[in-house]
Amino acid sequence: MGLNIAGLVITDNFEKNLKKLEDDLRWDIEIIEEITFEDASSNWTPKEEFTLLFTDKATLIFYPHKWITECYSSVKVSSMSYAYSATSMTFIISYRNHEENYGRYIISSEGKTQLVQGNEIPYEKEGMQVDAIILKLIDDLLGEPFDKIDRSVKAYRCKKLNVSTTRLDYIQRLEIEKNRMQLNPNNGESGHTTNLFHTIENLELDDREEVLCPRCLGKGYIDAEDIERLNRKRAWEAGLCAYCMGKQKVSIKQSQILKANNGFLSSNLIPTVREKLVDGDKELLKTAQKVNELLENYLENYNVDSLIQYVDTLEKYEVPDE
Ligand SMILES: [Zn+2]
Repeated sequence: MGLNIAGLVITDNFEKNLKKLEDDLRWDIEIIEEITFEDASSNWTPKEEFTLLFTDKATLIFYPHKWITECYSSVKVSSMSYAYSATSMTFIISYRNHEENYGRYIISSEGKTQLVQGNEIPYEKEGMQVDAIILKLIDDLLGEPFDKIDRSVKAYRCKKLNVSTTRLDYIQRLEIEKNRMQLNPNNGESGHTTNLFHTIENLELDDREEVLCPRCLGKGYIDAEDIERLNRKRAWEAGLCAYCMGKQKVSIKQSQILKANNGFLSSNLIPTVREKLVDGDKELLKTAQKVNELLENYLENYNVDSLIQYVDTLEKYEVPDE
């Protein structure tokens, strides 16, 4: 087994005031019950829940591994988000040193460093491994050894109230991270990046779980504001959301493989085609991407050829008009 924890350490205890912590994290927190630190720090935090402990100097939070991508960092104090998974041999650090004004992001999997960004943490210079650095930084940020915290001290089992938006955030941030890494050639071989995200995604994520529809943001229909946000003026009209077909939610998988504004996903799409597409059919995904590029080329450059090709291609996959 080994240690499997993920969480956040902040060098500030917010005067043990939940409201102040909420403001800093931008989370809405509901306390479910009081527990002991012993229970709070046990392996694997349940889905959608986290545990919280204010010490005399710091704040310690344990949360589900997938939350690591939220990359919290305080503007006022030093902090670290981390994931430590002995089971999958994956160790992630997102560290922000406020005093010395630098940040560090490290992902290590199965003994290999898959991604490093920012300034070196002194412990790295000493040759320390990522898993050991995590434990060391936890002690540093706490201002006392983790092992010395009294196990019977009171902690809280909590949940974030805006869970769906948080999960949507998670996926969007994951997308941003992916793009950021692909743009930066210093991040090692691209194959690593792909593996890396499989690693993170597989930590806990079940891709059949549902998230709020990223196109209509859970309304079931799109309005002028959505169309503006999605950059589809002159192409779309307000009405039923074709991304979720009014269901308001979609699978995590769909939200990962199809952009919210993909122009192929129209409400006239033949139902079996839609089903195959959102299930990840490679050929259809290629078509969806191509169709979307045609639409964008038309919208950005007023390219009429693209518009014609767009309409022609789409027609083949749509339910014919009566
Ligand atoms: Zn929708």
